[in-house]
Formats: sequence, C-alpha cells, structure tokens
Amino acid sequence: MDSLYLLHLMLFSLLGASLASWMIYEFDNYGKRYTSVLKRLSVRSKCDYCQEQVSYSNLVPVLSYIFLGGKTSCCTTKLSKKYIIFESFGALIFAVGYLTNTLEISILGFLIIFIIFNDEKYKEIPIWVNLALFSWVITFGYELIENNFLPALYLAFALILLYLFFLKVRGLEGLGLADIILLFSISLYLGFPDFLYLITIASASLLIKIILTQKLREPHAFGSWIAGTFGFFILFQEFYVSAN
Ligand SMILES: [Zn+2]
Repeated sequence: MDSLYLLHLMLFSLLGASLASWMIYEFDNYGKRYTSVLKRLSVRSKCDYCQEQVSYSNLVPVLSYIFLGGKTSCCTTKLSKKYIIFESFGALIFAVGYLTNTLEISILGFLIIFIIFNDEKYKEIPIWVNLALFSWVITFGYELIENNFLPALYLAFALILLYLFFLKVRGLEGLGLADIILLFSISLYLGFPDFLYLITIASASLLIKIILTQKLREPHAFGSWIAGTFGFFILFQEFYVSAN
C-alpha cells in the first residue's frame, strides 16, 4: 500500500466522519428554519449543554472526541456517545467504500441510514434527502433509466391515485408524498418487477413490526422500510451477485 493510497484512505475516512457529524446535526435540528441555504450549510455547532459555540479545533470528528476524553471543552460535561459511534461508523463506511472501489454505495448508505432515522423519529423524509437520492439514481444508474422510466412512472401514477383516494375517502394520508418520490427514484433504479418485490418485502417487514409491537392504531413510517429494503437489495447486488 503506497503512501498516496493511505493518504486518500485517511481523507475519505475523515470525509465520512464529517458527513456523519453533519447528519447528526441535521437530524437533531430537524425542522429548524434557516434564512438561506448558505446559512444552513455554514451553521456552527453549539454545545449540547451550555450552548456555547464549538471551536474549530474541537470540530474534527472522532479525533476531537477522543482528544477531549468524551467531554465538552466549554463546560466539561460528558458528550453523548452518538457522536463517536456515528462518526466512526461514517468513517468506516467511506473507508470500506474506498478500499472496495464502491464509494457510490457508501454515499447511498449515508442517505438510506439518514432516511431510516429521520422517518422513524419524525415520520417525514426531508426533501433534500429525496433529491439527493434521486440525483444518486440518475448519476449512478443512468444506463438503467431508459428501460425503467415508464414502469416507474406508472407506479408513481398508481401511488398518487392511491394517495388521493385515501385523502378523499378516509380524510388522511395513507402514504406520504415523500414516500412516493422515494419509490419513484428507487423504481427508476430497480425496474420492473424488482420494485414490486421491494414494495412487498418492505410492506411485509412493516406489518411484522406492527404485529410484534402491537401498535395497531399509531401511525408508522413506511419510507424507512422502503429505504432499508433498497439498501439490502443494493448490498446483495454489489457484494453477493457480483462475487458469484
Ligand atoms: Zn458546554
């Protein structure tokens, strides 16, 4: 392993950790309004306890946590373990992506994990993640789109009819519009009939969850299950089918 390769590996790991760090912030501050996109991207992290702005030297993911001994530098309160766990995981995802030449899968992994957490907690998929996933599909699946465009469009159309039907008849959203956008992007990538398998598996998994938790009347996130199943499909395709 030459030194340039090692340097790249370290840089990508740092990038993964930083991205994870940013996503933790986005997740914790979900729904917060910003005056501009620039403000949103340049917002500085504040201490979870005393709200003091975190200094630049303490913003290095993973390393700052270790260096500070897991405590904040401003008020020496114990930091949540979520930082070290998710930042290390982010670094690992990008490191593996770099080593196996599948960085695009690492990026997709980030988006899917974010959708799962956000949808389970807030019952919503932020529009920027949906757009990011759509961009991912047209970038890394552009040769599939020509074949898959019409089936995906039919599916989206059917889902919109279902959405309107629920809204009209039951007065509620049976599935969210964000779920429909998500399914459209995924269908563009998977094509027919694979997207039907995905919907079946995701629905069955959600049904099993509802039965096991016995929370029959509460609203359940569906997008998280769609995204999670898509993640499994991609992993299976990349690392199992390609290896055989
Ligand atoms: Zn503090």
